[in-house]
Amino acid sequence: MNRRSFIATAAAALPAPAAEPFRYRGYLGWITDLATEPEPHAAWPSIRLDTGLARDYHRTFTLMREWKLQDLCIWGLQISRSWPLRLEDAVTPDRARRVDKLIADAHSHGLRVLSGLGIYSWGFDEILKANPRLMKGNRSTMCGSEDESWQWMRKVIDYVFRFPIDGVSMQSADQGRCPCEKCARYGETEYHARLNIRCAEYIRARYPGKTIGVSGWGMRFADPASLPHLTALSRHIDYLIDVRDTSSQSGRQSGPTLRRRLIAGLKCAFGTLGGPQVEPPQHWPRDRWFLPTIRSVGEHLQALHSDGGRACEWFYHILANPGDELSTWVAARTLADPAAGWRRHLDYSLARLYKVKSKPVREALAEAFLAAEQAYVQHIPGFCGTISLEPLVSSEPGPPVYLTKRLNAAQRASYERDLTAVRAQFEKLAPEVPERPRMQFALRALDNVRADLRAVRE
Ligand SMILES: [Zn+2]
Repeated sequence: MNRRSFIATAAAALPAPAAEPFRYRGYLGWITDLATEPEPHAAWPSIRLDTGLARDYHRTFTLMREWKLQDLCIWGLQISRSWPLRLEDAVTPDRARRVDKLIADAHSHGLRVLSGLGIYSWGFDEILKANPRLMKGNRSTMCGSEDESWQWMRKVIDYVFRFPIDGVSMQSADQGRCPCEKCARYGETEYHARLNIRCAEYIRARYPGKTIGVSGWGMRFADPASLPHLTALSRHIDYLIDVRDTSSQSGRQSGPTLRRRLIAGLKCAFGTLGGPQVEPPQHWPRDRWFLPTIRSVGEHLQALHSDGGRACEWFYHILANPGDELSTWVAARTLADPAAGWRRHLDYSLARLYKVKSKPVREALAEAFLAAEQAYVQHIPGFCGTISLEPLVSSEPGPPVYLTKRLNAAQRASYERDLTAVRAQFEKLAPEVPERPRMQFALRALDNVRADLRAVRE
């Protein structure tokens, strides 16, 4: 063997280098969004932090460590809708202790904890009521051009960093933006980028080493004119999320997508939510829906990764629901190891959760889950964003709007037919699957969805 062929053989024997995992693998939600128990009569968003929820978090942390899902982004650690004028009154000493304990538990599992942070928008209602001069045409956002607004924003940042967090996930557009004459000089993307840059510069200077993410609601990722503003923002933060993945929808027909060009120009990691997100219904029993999103999410994340995307803020899912549970297993594992491919992660997750040793049975079970997904997502192709099962803002169980608002009558009829076939697949497999409780839960959830579909029809 000559030297060249020896080197070639040695190189061929080495395993292919694993693809770089996603750098920011976030799990994000309102603090009660992963609760095993619903809260049928609490106003949204509930921030109740009791022993049951702490237990749910503890279980989730153990899974996150296993999945290598490392960035926990929590909304509602301190407040639900509004900061008090005296920020130090935001939480009782008891809640402060519970929050500290929750964060310590996350840290003991090797996780990082980011706090959700409304930037000029979300959380400022009380402050605006007491300082009406900062309210210039939008009742829920502070004017971005007033120095006094900035003083308030800084106080909020300093308060949030009193807790032992590792960073923030910022949002500047939840309640829209200030429309006043001074602020209107800036287009949507530029306006939001400027506010986020101001806060990020402050955090970098005052709290070095903290992670800063931006959830880019309000920014126009699909507009090439946004590129300079997004690039400027990217110099100040660690990752940027195009929530609805709008940049991938442009230019697909001709050359590289806008998303690819955008990512190449950014100085920070870029990402999305990871495809369709089944929004946790705060008020519903956990067996009222069955909507896995495995293939959609797996394909979405792999395409994002191959475009250079390295961040994801996967929303909290209800792990007590087997459809949501399996989607999250596959999403989390794909984020940590995109090269293996989502189908392998699905097979592994089924082996773990359903304890099925036989490969053909696992494959049949995978097909049943994928059929349940296809029955719904075929009617919302390429969707990235949240699927609200019930109306989000409410204080009681709401109607199934994912059936009535997203699907028309013909699509509902098709969904009902398809789910009947899916139920037969699960029923046939049930005797061969050792994990009986999950199979029974899935069958019950499928029956409940069909009952909702019948009720809507009648
Ligand atoms: Zn303004």
